[in-house]
Amino acid sequence: MAHAFVSNRIVTPRGTQPGALLIEDSLIYAICRTSEIPRGVTVHDCGNCAILPGLVDTHVHINQPGRTEWEGFPTATRAAAAGGITTLIDMPLNCLPETTTVAALEAKRESARGQCFVDWAPWGGAVADNQQHLLPLARAGVRGYKCFLIYPGCDGFTMIDREQLEAALPHIAESGLPLLVHAELAGPIDRATESLKTADWHKYSTYLASRPDEAELEAIRLMIDLCRQYKYRLHIVHLSTALALDDLRRARAEGLPITVETCPHYLHFAAEDIPDGSTMHKCAPPIRSRANREALWQALADGTIDMIVTDHSPCPPAMKCLDPSHSATGRFDQAWGGIASLPLALSIIHTEATVRGFTLDHIARWMSAVPAALAGLSHRAGALEPGREATFTIFDTEATFTVVPDRLCYRHPVSPYLNETLRGEVRATWLRGEPVFNEGIFAPTPTGHEIKP
Ligand SMILES: [Zn+2]
Repeated sequence: MAHAFVSNRIVTPRGTQPGALLIEDSLIYAICRTSEIPRGVTVHDCGNCAILPGLVDTHVHINQPGRTEWEGFPTATRAAAAGGITTLIDMPLNCLPETTTVAALEAKRESARGQCFVDWAPWGGAVADNQQHLLPLARAGVRGYKCFLIYPGCDGFTMIDREQLEAALPHIAESGLPLLVHAELAGPIDRATESLKTADWHKYSTYLASRPDEAELEAIRLMIDLCRQYKYRLHIVHLSTALALDDLRRARAEGLPITVETCPHYLHFAAEDIPDGSTMHKCAPPIRSRANREALWQALADGTIDMIVTDHSPCPPAMKCLDPSHSATGRFDQAWGGIASLPLALSIIHTEATVRGFTLDHIARWMSAVPAALAGLSHRAGALEPGREATFTIFDTEATFTVVPDRLCYRHPVSPYLNETLRGEVRATWLRGEPVFNEGIFAPTPTGHEIKP
């Protein structure tokens, strides 16, 4: 079955152009002028809605198997489809077992089978003691490794110290895959927290003070040093502090293979505006000042930050300390850290990017092409071009909407974005020539699958 999607703005790697995206079965076969649309195809007039390549989100905690009461493949992939995201790369922790061995990877694959409304692929974990599992994981198909330099919030996924890293890095370098690093060191956080023992933990300022910029800065400096020594592909996840940008710029100027991501919450919220007790805003590293936020946008503009991914990390509402009858309510030291944003990320970034003069081409690069490259999936995702899979999203840039729980689609509709008004709304998401989300309605059966290298 052939279709022509006519739009004033088709976002391609060569820029945004008016015309028609022609698809047949599961593939794109041309992008042409509207006068060149062949007879007999079904025409979909998207008008001024833009057509973007399906977005690729390389930082998602799906939590299945093992903690599907937090999130799971069906709910996360539906939320992604509603947000124009067609590939999720799953983080190796918060699920049980954690993805640190090939057996655990196979358990995840088994659990995901037949459950996904969009595509997915796995990251593996680099933990304290699994060095001998790293290359087998690569051969089994993980797209890279994730590690924590600090306690990650759940016991099963151990943090890794310098000595353990030095044991792991030769294997990681040999794999050619990236090492994704949660870059915070415990030292500065422990020192700051010690001095806050009697502070009021309902205040956002207390939480912010407990996770100082130095924790990120020192961790990033350590990883840059090791990158110089071992020449592995270093990827900094969820960069929050703008104070690290100069170190990252210098390291990249040296030619070190470093990439950097940040997340919608760091680009949208500012510490000054977060109400005390609003534990929905808790994440680590924390949301920092307004000036810091603007410096992150500058770093996207100059290329120091390469991409924007969600760090979608939901949990049951009770863990966010939102229950008014509970003694821990509104306490930032007790609440789970994590912000879920799969269905909203594109709208959030579009809202913020357009007021700063950025275009859909920037957004497609930050949220589709570059994350696809990080995960080694550029051949399958990240661009609208003839010969590729017909996987794209139709995005109404003029529509505004208010975030209500029904919009969220993931397992627990908890969000710091509730009641905000965003500009730009996903109308439809197509996966390999079929709509998986269309004007609020999901496909009846899941057709997503794991993308293998
Ligand atoms: Zn994360």
